[in-house]
Amino acid sequence: MIHVNTHYRDIAESYLFSTVAKKVAAFTAAHPDRSVIRMGIGDVTRPLCPAVIEALHAAVDDMATAAGFHGYGPEQGYDFLREAVRGYYGERGVSLAPDEIFISDGAKSDLGNLLDLFDQNNTVLVPDPVYPVYVDTNVMAGRRVIYADANESNGFLPLPDPGVKADIIYICSPNNPTGAVYNKAQLKCWVDYAVDNGAILLFDAAYESFITDPDLPHSIYEIEGARRCAIEVCSLSKTAGFTGTRCGYTIVPCDLVFDGMCLNKMWTRRQTTKFNGVPYIVQRAAAAVFTPEGQRQVRETLAYYRRNAAVMTAAFDEMGVWYTGGKSSPYVWFRCPGGMDSWAFFDRLLETAGVVGTPGAGFGRNGEGFFRLTAFGDADKTAEAMERIRKAAF
Ligand code: PLP
Repeated sequence: MIHVNTHYRDIAESYLFSTVAKKVAAFTAAHPDRSVIRMGIGDVTRPLCPAVIEALHAAVDDMATAAGFHGYGPEQGYDFLREAVRGYYGERGVSLAPDEIFISDGAKSDLGNLLDLFDQNNTVLVPDPVYPVYVDTNVMAGRRVIYADANESNGFLPLPDPGVKADIIYICSPNNPTGAVYNKAQLKCWVDYAVDNGAILLFDAAYESFITDPDLPHSIYEIEGARRCAIEVCSLSKTAGFTGTRCGYTIVPCDLVFDGMCLNKMWTRRQTTKFNGVPYIVQRAAAAVFTPEGQRQVRETLAYYRRNAAVMTAAFDEMGVWYTGGKSSPYVWFRCPGGMDSWAFFDRLLETAGVVGTPGAGFGRNGEGFFRLTAFGDADKTAEAMERIRKAAF
């Protein structure tokens, strides 16, 4: 008789976005004349840049000719894109071998798939609050998950506790949901902890392109020692609007050797066995992001979102509200005014200002009392939302 993976019973039901959607639907039904501004979603809204669109069209035309047609490609990605990613890292002084770069269909898939490399019997450390994928993918596999408290007193940037024993550690910087960004000294603490304990860091750099402070690290490999303890997962979703087009990259250094086994070789084997690569058309589009023209254009879009974030943080500064993020991140994470809990504030914000955000409690125990707004929306609507919030004077 078949036995199913009963660990699926242990995954907490996620009511966060469905509850938000239900509450918004009920509000708009009751108040059809009220305008609602949505600042809860983590999806981007600006179109793909012209360089990407041109590359997509050209790649489609390639596929229409026998000479330009591409069938199965290399599972790890085409050389033209791996070289482009290598050049991007090189600009920041991070030197990678081409076979350390694996093209993916986005960060989420690889964050789950990478766990194929690790025994079930590892302890996983995630920050709380957290991007829920880190927790659920491990609970599905029956791994023990423990939490590092992120809170106002550590600026939502927890550091390693030498008394805690963890084997797989997730770090997301700039962080979703808090927008907080680790500096080099703080990341060095995590790298040292991992090296000392024989642990692996899974570094999620999905929001690296939002960093504006030149002293903040974009990649874990800017930290000495990281090649011996870290895998980095990155994505073009937020950098270049690829949330629907789907392309990312994962770095697995050849120096990662545990139990006498090389993780780079294992991952290559895993990918060639279970993955057949990202579409040629999409990889051509992704390569266009790394051209000088593509970089100039995606930076314009990033600047658009950054202006939204600046409007948001300026309003909170004026109101004297405590927050993290917004500076090198598209997320602003703030303390709910008047000591309100996150869901009470959600209702209040919707009723008084017609603004939708995401209650921090949905991201973990430490998110209670906090709230996330995103800068991915329309500029005029973002400005209007902040004006309404200011007027509401909670
Ligand atoms: N990592 C973090 C922290 C995210 O917030 C997201 C998406 O919101 C992802 C990864 C997933 O990115 P992708 O679209 O590349 O799968």
